[in-house]
Amino acid sequence: MDYHIHSMFSEDSNTPTNEIVSSAINRGLSQICFTEHKDLDVFYKGTDYYKDRNYSIEIERLKDKYKGTIEIRKGVEVDFQEGTIPLFEDFLNKYSFDFVIASVHVLRHEFVDDNFFRKNDPDKSYKEYLEQVLSLSKRDSYDVAGHIDYAKRFGSEFLEFNPEKYRDMLIEILGNIIRNKKGIELNTGGWRHSHGESYPSEYILKLYRDMGGEIITIGSDAHIAGHVGFSIKRAIKLLEKIGFDGVYAFKNRMPQKILF
Ligand SMILES: [Zn+2]
Ligand SMILES: [Zn+2]
Repeated sequence: MDYHIHSMFSEDSNTPTNEIVSSAINRGLSQICFTEHKDLDVFYKGTDYYKDRNYSIEIERLKDKYKGTIEIRKGVEVDFQEGTIPLFEDFLNKYSFDFVIASVHVLRHEFVDDNFFRKNDPDKSYKEYLEQVLSLSKRDSYDVAGHIDYAKRFGSEFLEFNPEKYRDMLIEILGNIIRNKKGIELNTGGWRHSHGESYPSEYILKLYRDMGGEIITIGSDAHIAGHVGFSIKRAIKLLEKIGFDGVYAFKNRMPQKILF
């Protein structure tokens, strides 16, 4: 399965949905979930990533076309910011999905990229990022928290992200997620990035498991067809090693466990 995929319905991808599905079938995947971007911050340029009606029609078309070959689900990756919580809740009440990832990408209306780290202290930025994830972890409207240590993607160049240092915050975040019966994702995209770690790292995955964390999805964060299914086997191996015995799929927002 691959539960984190972007296509041309996300502004940062040009990949036709058919190419995504063909690639998934070629790689032997049995199920994929499209998770297009939805951004709610009007100060941040990519506001209109997601267009519901066309997206829903396209997913229905794909389901029909590939019936019996591959299971296709309709998801979304909603950007989470404390300042847009009412919009976040309204959006998720208004539209229906199989699966909702909520992710932090933006702090103080700026994308958390290398430019951000050039201007801001890396240690403080890591804390600020995790504070947003903490705020997200208290909500009830998402299914999994996306790439929870994503700040290291661009921050690692300035200061290595050491999860041990933020352990107390991570325990609070993961505790909320577990209590609220939500999950996290293992995002394999990090294995393509220069720091070479998954999102989150093994340390955090282990902490989640040790605390009783159970709901976890695996996704490649593909924006091109060639990344669909990226390192899914490696992810399963890692989760098995840590003590997970399966991963989760979602249908109509209901978690379904699939044993390894
Ligand atoms: Zn993301
Ligand atoms: Zn994504």
